[in-house]
Amino acid sequence: DVVSPRPQDDTELAVEGALRPQSLTEFVGQHKVRGQLQLLLDAARIQQRSSDHILLSGPPGLGKTTLAMIVAYESERPLRMSSGPAIQHAGDLAALLSSLTPGEVLFIDEIHRMARSAEEMLYLAMEDFRIDIMVGKGAGATSIPLELAPFTLVGATTRSGLLPSPLRDRFGFTAHLEYYEPSELESVIERSALVLGIDLDDTQRSEIARRSRGTPRIANRLLRRVRDWTLVHGAGREVSLAGVQAALNLYDVDAIGLDRLDRAVLDALVRRFRGGPVGLSTLAVTVGEEADTVESVVEPYLVRIGFMGRTPRGRVATPEAYVHLGLPVPADMT
Ligand code: ATP
Repeated sequence: DVVSPRPQDDTELAVEGALRPQSLTEFVGQHKVRGQLQLLLDAARIQQRSSDHILLSGPPGLGKTTLAMIVAYESERPLRMSSGPAIQHAGDLAALLSSLTPGEVLFIDEIHRMARSAEEMLYLAMEDFRIDIMVGKGAGATSIPLELAPFTLVGATTRSGLLPSPLRDRFGFTAHLEYYEPSELESVIERSALVLGIDLDDTQRSEIARRSRGTPRIANRLLRRVRDWTLVHGAGREVSLAGVQAALNLYDVDAIGLDRLDRAVLDALVRRFRGGPVGLSTLAVTVGEEADTVESVVEPYLVRIGFMGRTPRGRVATPEAYVHLGLPVPADMT
C-alpha cells in the first residue's frame, strides 16, 4: 500500500528509536546534568532502592524523553510512559500508579498539563508511596488508603514555572536542559549519520549543526532530509554541501536555523509592532499560533540567540533581529 502514510511513519519512528542514546555516556552535551544524574543513579544502585524523583525542564527536543529512558535503562528498571494531557482525572492517575511494579520508572511528559485533582494525589504518592481513593459521594463518601509499590517519577515539562510549588518541591532532583552548542550538535549528527549509514564531512556536519536551532531532535530531522535529498538528487550516497543547503532551504530552515514560525514571530515583532514592546498573546494572535507554543518553543530560542528581549512591558526586538531580517536598525536603537 504505497499511498498510505503509515509505513513511512513507522519507518521514521523506528529510526527515531535507533538514534536514541541508551546510556548517559552516549548522551551528548548537558555535562552538568549528566554528572548530577549519574551520581543520583549510582547512589540509588548502591543502596538498592529507587532513585529520587526527577524533574526535567526545557524546550522540546532537547532530550527529556531520552533521559527518562536512560534513567530506566541504567537502573535496570522497567519504564512506563504517560503524559499530562492523558491524566484528566484523579482516577486516571490512581489506575496508573496502582498498576506500577516495584521500582518501576514512571515518565510523565508535559506534567504541567495534568488535572489539578491528580496533582494533589501525586503529592502523597511521591512522598509516601500511598494514595487515598475516594469511594462514594456526599455525606457517605469515605477515603480508602492504598499502598503503592515504590517508584521513580520522571516528570518532563517545557514550562516548569507552571508547576505548583508543592509538586516541584517533591522532586529530589530538578534539571533544566539548555540548548546545545553547535559542536555538541555535530557529535549528535556524527553519531546519527553512522546509524543511518550516511557519509558526511566536517563542513556538511557543521552546516547542519549550525541550522539545527540548538536542538538534537531538529538535527536528526534535518539529517534525514539531507539523506532524502541525496537519495533523490545525489548520485547514491555521496552527500554534497550544495545538497545539504538545498535540502535545508527546501524545508524553510534559514542560514542560522530559524524556521517559518520563528521568522513570522520576529517579522511581526519588528514590522508590525515596530520592535515592541508587545504582549505575548497579541504577538501569538498576529502569527496565528497558540501563546503557549510561542512562549515555550519560539521565544526561548530567539532570546537565547539575542534577537528578542523580555521586558515588564512586553517583548522587544534587538538590533540583531533587524540585521537578520535585512532591515535598517532604527536610529534610537544604535
Ligand atoms: P519532548 O520534550 O518534546 O519529548 P525531548 O526533549 O524529550 O522532547 P527527545 O525525544 O528525548 O526530546 O529527543 C529527541 C531526539 O533527539 C531523539 O531522537 C534523541 O535521539 C535525540 N537526542 C536528544 N538529546 C540527545 C543527546 N544529548 N545526544 C544524542 N541524541 C540526542
